[in-house]
Amino acid sequence: MPRRKKTAEPEIKIKSIKTPQTVRGMKDILPVNQKYWDFMRDHIKSIAEDYSYKRIETPILENLQLFTHTLGKQTDIVEKEMFSFIDKSGEKLVLRPENTAPVARAYIEHGMFNQPQPVKLFYFGPMFRHERPQSGRQREFHQVGFEILGDASPAIDAEIILIANNFLKEMGIEITVQINSIGDLESRAAYRKALQEYYKNKKASLCADCKKRLTKNTLRLLDCKNVKCVNLKENAPQTVDYLTESSRDHFFRTLEYLDELQIAYNLNPFLVRGLDYYNNTVFELWEKDDETGKTALGGGGRYDYLVEMLGGRETPACGFALGLERVIATLRDKKIDLPKKKIPDVFLAQIGEQARKKAMAFFEQLRKSDLKVAANFSKQKLKSQLDLANKMGVKIVLILGQREIVDETILMRDMDSGIQEVINFKKVIPEIKKTLGKK
Ligand code: AMP
Repeated sequence: MPRRKKTAEPEIKIKSIKTPQTVRGMKDILPVNQKYWDFMRDHIKSIAEDYSYKRIETPILENLQLFTHTLGKQTDIVEKEMFSFIDKSGEKLVLRPENTAPVARAYIEHGMFNQPQPVKLFYFGPMFRHERPQSGRQREFHQVGFEILGDASPAIDAEIILIANNFLKEMGIEITVQINSIGDLESRAAYRKALQEYYKNKKASLCADCKKRLTKNTLRLLDCKNVKCVNLKENAPQTVDYLTESSRDHFFRTLEYLDELQIAYNLNPFLVRGLDYYNNTVFELWEKDDETGKTALGGGGRYDYLVEMLGGRETPACGFALGLERVIATLRDKKIDLPKKKIPDVFLAQIGEQARKKAMAFFEQLRKSDLKVAANFSKQKLKSQLDLANKMGVKIVLILGQREIVDETILMRDMDSGIQEVINFKKVIPEIKKTLGKK
C-alpha cells in the first residue's frame, strides 16, 4: 500500500500590533471613577423629577446642517471644532457638538408642539468637539442639559437658572451666576453697529481671530480670552444699553424673579455666549474662584428663534447645559464627599465548587426577595470574602460550605459580634428580614 503523505496542519499564529491608544482628547471612564458618574446620574434624575422634566435621548450622529445653520457659520464650533464627515451614502454627518439644536429638531420632528406647552426636557450624554485637549477641555465630554420649549415668560428663564444653580449648589459647589441680555434681533443689530464703530480704529490691536470676527460675528469679540482683546473690551459699549423696550423689560423681570428666589448673580455686560441661536437672557455658571470663566461649569440662555430657524413654528424656549467632567473635577479638587452608597443587606460567601454553584442560584433568590445582596464568586478563600464584606460595611454574612449543603442549612454570621448561627436553608430569607427589621 502506498504510504499516505501527512498533510501539514495550517499553522495558527497570533499577529500582534502595537496596542492602539484612546483617540486624542478622548478618555476611558474607569471603574474606579464610576462612583462620580453614578452620583451624577442619580443627582440629575432627582433634580429632573423635582422640577418635572422628561428625559430625551437623541442620536449622537446628526446632519451637519442642523449645527451649521443654527450655531452660526462664524462660531468656533462650526468653523474649527466639528467632527464632521461624509458617510458611505454621501450624507454630511457630524458627531453632535452640543444638544440644544438636536432637542429642537426632535421637538419639531415628533410634533411636540401639539402637546400641552411648555415641554420640559432633559438630556445627559456625550458631545464631541475637536478642540486642543487640555485641562477641562476634551474632545469627547459629557453634558447634562435642561430645556423648556413653548413659553416666553421670564419666569422660565428664572426657573432654568434656578435649576442650574441648585444642581451645583446641592452638590456643595460654590458658584457665581454670570448673567446678561443680548436682546432680540433688533437690539442685536443696533449693538453690533455700536461695537463695530468702537473697534473701527482698534482693529490693528486685535488678535487674528477677532479681526475676522469684527465683520462676521462681532459679538464674539467680547468672548475672546486673548489678553490684547480682553484689555480692549474694557471700554466697549454694553449690550444692555442697546436693548429694545421689550428686551429690557424681559431682562429686568427675569432679574426680579432671581431676586425673589434669592439667587445671587453678577451682571456681566460682556457675556454673549457666541452662538447665533441665543437671544435675550444669556448666563453662565462659574466656579466661585474662577474670575474669567475660562473653565465655566456651564451656561445657557433663551433661544426663541431656534425652532423657527429649523423650519418649525415660532416657539420661545430657554435652557442650559453643564459639562460633567468639569463638575466632577471640581468635586475632586474641593474634596467634596459623595453621599455614601447604600450598604448591602447581606453578603453571601461560599466555600468550594459545589457551594459556589448553589450560592449563585441562591443569590438570585435573595435579590428577588427584595434584599440588597453582595457576593464575589471569584474569591475562593472565606477570609478574603469576609474581608470584602467588612470593607463594604455589611452586617450579615451568609456562609455556604460543603457541610451546609449536605445539612440543608446555612451559617448566618453577625459581623459586629462575630456570632454565627446555623439556620435551616428554607428559613433564611424570613430570618434575615426579621434581623434587619424588614417586612
Ligand atoms: P458651551 O455650550 O460651550 O458653553 O458648553 C457648556 C459646558 O460644557 C461648558 O461650560 C463646559 O463645562 C462643558 N464643555 C464645553 N466644551 C468642553 C470641552 N471641550 N471639554 C470639556 N467640557 C466642555
